[in-house]
Amino acid sequence: MARQRRRAREQAAPPDAGAEAAGPPLLPIVQVGEAVLRRPSRELTREEILSPPFQRLIEAMRETMYAAPGVGLAAPQVGLGMRFAVLEDRVEADEDDAGPLERTTLPFMVMVNPRYEPVGDETREHFEGCLSLEGFRALVRRPYSVRAHWLDEKAHEHTRTFKGWPARIVQHETDHLDGKIYIDLMTPRSLITDEAWVTHWDQSSVEEFREAFGIDG
Ligand code: ZN
Repeated sequence: MARQRRRAREQAAPPDAGAEAAGPPLLPIVQVGEAVLRRPSRELTREEILSPPFQRLIEAMRETMYAAPGVGLAAPQVGLGMRFAVLEDRVEADEDDAGPLERTTLPFMVMVNPRYEPVGDETREHFEGCLSLEGFRALVRRPYSVRAHWLDEKAHEHTRTFKGWPARIVQHETDHLDGKIYIDLMTPRSLITDEAWVTHWDQSSVEEFREAFGIDG
């Protein structure tokens, strides 16, 4: 998922982000139009997860996510039909400090074979972008909280409840593994360019945007 800019407290990219000679090579991010983004990915076995090539792939995905910059990157986005994603939001915020996006720090995670289900009926609608649909964003209504199940890079099982912006990242990345992109879920009429967002809507509420665009409800 594309990183939401937040001027005040955005943490700088890590010093090794980008095309430093020492790190693994960055992977090309595929854009909409590649069928791999529309196919369900295959699950990984324990043996595959623990294999050295997979461990190297995780590192390459992590560096590619940092360089993009993004807060999540799913394997189909680098052309691989494998059911895993890397996620991390380095924003420095806890729940008291999360702002209207309810954005809180999400430590680096590898989610292999993830799935999720909504917790409760509450939803949130925010602008969301994707590294595989560069230059655009749209409003997407999603469950406020989800319970996710996955294996980490050591093939250990996890179940955890996420809420707010981290829950959105988990949903966005897991959806990629089912061949879904945020535009499948977006509020009709809300697709705009990043440029328009920065120029006109950066400081506006979702309600103001909806009204200006004649979006009902
Ligand atoms: Zn995406």
